[in-house]
Amino acid sequence: MENIINDSPFVPSPVIPTSYDGSKVIQFRCHKEIACFNACCKNIDITLTPYDILRLKRRLGLTSGEFLLGFTEPYEMDKDSIAGVKFKPVEGGTACQFMTEEGCSVYEDRPTACRYYPVALVSMRRQNEYTDINSYALVEEAHCLGHKEDRSLTIDEYRHEQGLEDYDEQGRGWRQLILKKKSSGPTVGTPSKRSLQLFFMACYDLDRFRDFVFSDSFNEVYDLPDNLKKTLAEDEIELMQFGFRFLRQVMFSEESIAMKSDAFDKRLAKKQEREAAGLTSSEPALVPDSPYDHPECGCD
Ligand code: SF4
Ligand code: SF4
Repeated sequence: MENIINDSPFVPSPVIPTSYDGSKVIQFRCHKEIACFNACCKNIDITLTPYDILRLKRRLGLTSGEFLLGFTEPYEMDKDSIAGVKFKPVEGGTACQFMTEEGCSVYEDRPTACRYYPVALVSMRRQNEYTDINSYALVEEAHCLGHKEDRSLTIDEYRHEQGLEDYDEQGRGWRQLILKKKSSGPTVGTPSKRSLQLFFMACYDLDRFRDFVFSDSFNEVYDLPDNLKKTLAEDEIELMQFGFRFLRQVMFSEESIAMKSDAFDKRLAKKQEREAAGLTSSEPALVPDSPYDHPECGCD
């Protein structure tokens, strides 16, 4: 039997353990006059996608490093230390830093998980395939009175209302990487620390990733056409999507980015030069530092 992998970084508890497709009709409405207004933002556990981070850092006029430091904390998504990023709540509390008396202060750019609630996205994939299949679960928590409101709509209608088609599309490459990593058998093995660092940088620290893509070390190895370089310099969404492609190459050896024919010789010569000069490190510093000081997530 084929192995089906089930995962959602967004599923909070308690999820009703039934999966639905987009035609499922739900009863739900959330609005400012409801008695529980803001209750869900007072005790948060929100995983961020790369696209969530891109939208929020852009809205706040911050670099990705500044946003990560001020508003997030890393966590380990699985036993091999694949890093995820969550919202960091207010100092000494559990509420979201963006919650105000009037509601969400970043509403137009709120993350995927906030948009989905009380629906949860469940992605599945067959082993060694990238094609993912989405289904949905429902989250019913006692404090959320939206389920008692008199409004029925399908999950697809709810996703459209919440602007989720775009968010799901932009987050797909990241979800597929995680699903593939979680389902990879012993032939793929434990990723190296370097590939985990690259995962963190390419997924979450986009400004550093841009510097990396335009660094001498990267250009010694990879052969990017000029028009692609221009696109990556000008368009952050394209850069993020390129990052997912780059990670498939680094983590799963799926060659889709051309490498320079002399890359290996040049790197070998550099290594020999460094060794002859008495430098112990055999690898040039390909990966810039992380904005965090969290060695446990493999992203230091
Ligand atoms: S981002 Fe907005 S909607 Fe999401 S938890 Fe924070 S305040 Fe609530
Ligand atoms: S109805 Fe649910 S989602 Fe809306 S504010 Fe209340 S707890 Fe939050």
